[in-house]
Amino acid sequence: MNGFYAIAIDGPSGAGKSSLARRLAGMFQFIYVDTGAIYRTVGLAAYRAGIDRRDEAAVAALLPKISITMGYNEAGEQRMYLNGEDVSAEIRLPEISICASDVAALPAVRAYLLEMQRKMAQENHVIMDGRDIGTVVLPEAELKIFLTASAQARARRRLLELESKGVTSSFEEVLQDIEYRDVQDSSRAAAPLKAAEDAVLVDTSELDFEQSLALLAELVVTRLAPEGEREK
Ligand code: C5P
Repeated sequence: MNGFYAIAIDGPSGAGKSSLARRLAGMFQFIYVDTGAIYRTVGLAAYRAGIDRRDEAAVAALLPKISITMGYNEAGEQRMYLNGEDVSAEIRLPEISICASDVAALPAVRAYLLEMQRKMAQENHVIMDGRDIGTVVLPEAELKIFLTASAQARARRRLLELESKGVTSSFEEVLQDIEYRDVQDSSRAAAPLKAAEDAVLVDTSELDFEQSLALLAELVVTRLAPEGEREK
């Protein structure tokens, strides 16, 4: 124990991890760490460098040449910087999602990013979301949640989210993208997407956002403050 609480939220893309984690972090005054954004930044770097994103040696050679940093703006939103440039919007493009999933399958990339993620949890109360937070990054987390939903439900939500950001796509395209990443993220040898043995499974297919939030908030309260006491 390092004196800080950690909550791990893992699950496939589009299950609502980031919007739920962000709101929970605000409610409980934790720092929200979106680890997918870090993988996306590596994916963007590989894309821009024009290298084969599945070629581990080529991607590993790129890593020491780039600088990936994260920060928070005044509104408390996580921002990602690639060589000092704010790439927070660009990493959300659908083609970069695929690049992120490709580079995330490489052990060299995962090892490189592990310390960056752990450091955040050593210095803050964190809610961290990703694919391997409960299993690899923070196996000692006080609460682990595995959040999932059907691929159709996830595609519908992701499409709405993209539309709200002005990105045009179709349901089929988004569903295909989600299914591609589901298969790749779950079947890769390095830190595959899977629930930790002690994770609480939450399926949000039939729940709306507020219902999902209420359920997760209750889990946080019962697990972290059984006697109504939050401070350690
Ligand atoms: O969560 P998000 O969709 O932004 O993540 C983008 C990609 O990054 C995922 O498809 C996954 O391959 C990878 N990822 C990962 N491990 C994490 C977070 C994200 O492999 N902890």
